[in-house]
Amino acid sequence: MSSLLIKNINILNPFDEEILNERNVLVKNDKIISIGVKNSDLYENTTVIDGEDKFLLPGFIDSHAHIMANGFHKEDTMKNPLALHFYDAIVNMKNTIDAGVTSLRDCGLADIGVKTAVSKKIFPSPKLNISIKPLAITGGHFDFYLNSGFDMELSYPGFPIGTCDGVEEVLKKTREVIRGRSDFIKVMASGGILSPNTSPHYPQFNLKELKTIVNEAKTNNLDVAAHCHSREGIRNCIAAGFKSIEHGTFIDKESAKLMAKNGIYLTPTLVVHHTLIKEGFPEWDRFADDKISKLKDVVKIQKENISMAYNEGVKLLMGSDCGVISHGRNLAELSYLCEIGMSPLEAIQAGTIEGAKLFNQENQLASIESGKTADMILVDGNPIEDISILSNSNNIKMVIQDGLIVKDLLKV
Ligand SMILES: [Zn+2]
Repeated sequence: MSSLLIKNINILNPFDEEILNERNVLVKNDKIISIGVKNSDLYENTTVIDGEDKFLLPGFIDSHAHIMANGFHKEDTMKNPLALHFYDAIVNMKNTIDAGVTSLRDCGLADIGVKTAVSKKIFPSPKLNISIKPLAITGGHFDFYLNSGFDMELSYPGFPIGTCDGVEEVLKKTREVIRGRSDFIKVMASGGILSPNTSPHYPQFNLKELKTIVNEAKTNNLDVAAHCHSREGIRNCIAAGFKSIEHGTFIDKESAKLMAKNGIYLTPTLVVHHTLIKEGFPEWDRFADDKISKLKDVVKIQKENISMAYNEGVKLLMGSDCGVISHGRNLAELSYLCEIGMSPLEAIQAGTIEGAKLFNQENQLASIESGKTADMILVDGNPIEDISILSNSNNIKMVIQDGLIVKDLLKV
């Protein structure tokens, strides 16, 4: 048995702007036992943490990241040994949990082996919900074909090829991903910004194919998420019954109204585009100019459109798309969510309780209440007064996951 007592801590729950001041939070094993104003009876060998002047929030849920990815350079497949792909990810996971993310929806690349290693706590990592391999059309976003004619797509046991076309192939591919033990299905339903020779303006997969994927997923009680920038693509995904739209750059009012009505989530991933424009691409990247011009094309319009969608009542999720940018900058997305009109508390909800609802985990995760899983972060400063505090990993003084301290800067 392990137990923790965090003394004199200020609790910020995502459902309440009011701070609970100077509380004592008692944790036993992986659960929060009590949130008292007085000292609770301690268990033997309780680790006591002084929380004075700090704020306690639930651990964050990043609803869109790629824990195995390091920039998505297709050529990496050719030059790197396969095992390196996995060892590099250990560093990615550490940086992510240090940033305050205790759960993560992996929108492509992590397989059941990675998820199993994480569940066994072999190394520190956010808990994962995985999609394994996104479904993509031939020549579409996430087809790894190069202009040279060489195909860089990687496949290994448990990690299938993702390209598929036509109703029969998409059905089989959906089943292959489910067989690989995915928690949801990810579909590339429009072109992308980082994939050369595709346009974010155009849809990918037709409505028949999309409906086939959703029906098969629903038969297995799984939801489907779409990478989709294109206006027409978004319409197709709504009609097919998708649960979430990722990016959503060219969303129009009509689609926003439908998404709000049908409870379809939107994960705008604003931070990734801003960061890429600021930081650029490596010199050797032959597609850099193409990528930068596409990014500049989308950044302004995306801000206006996501703001419109928010005003129409679409539920937004916090997703960073880390893996495209370096890992550990996940919570920078919260500041961008505030720029499109959310209050700091609403942004925190998008990064906690709403992400938990996606996987019916809201009764276990995403708030500081007795009986819930002890996934919590201690923060220097009140994020309601300044949301950007959370963008800097150094302000996340402690991370507790399943009742275990996985990051501790208080000792230093
Ligand atoms: Zn992504």
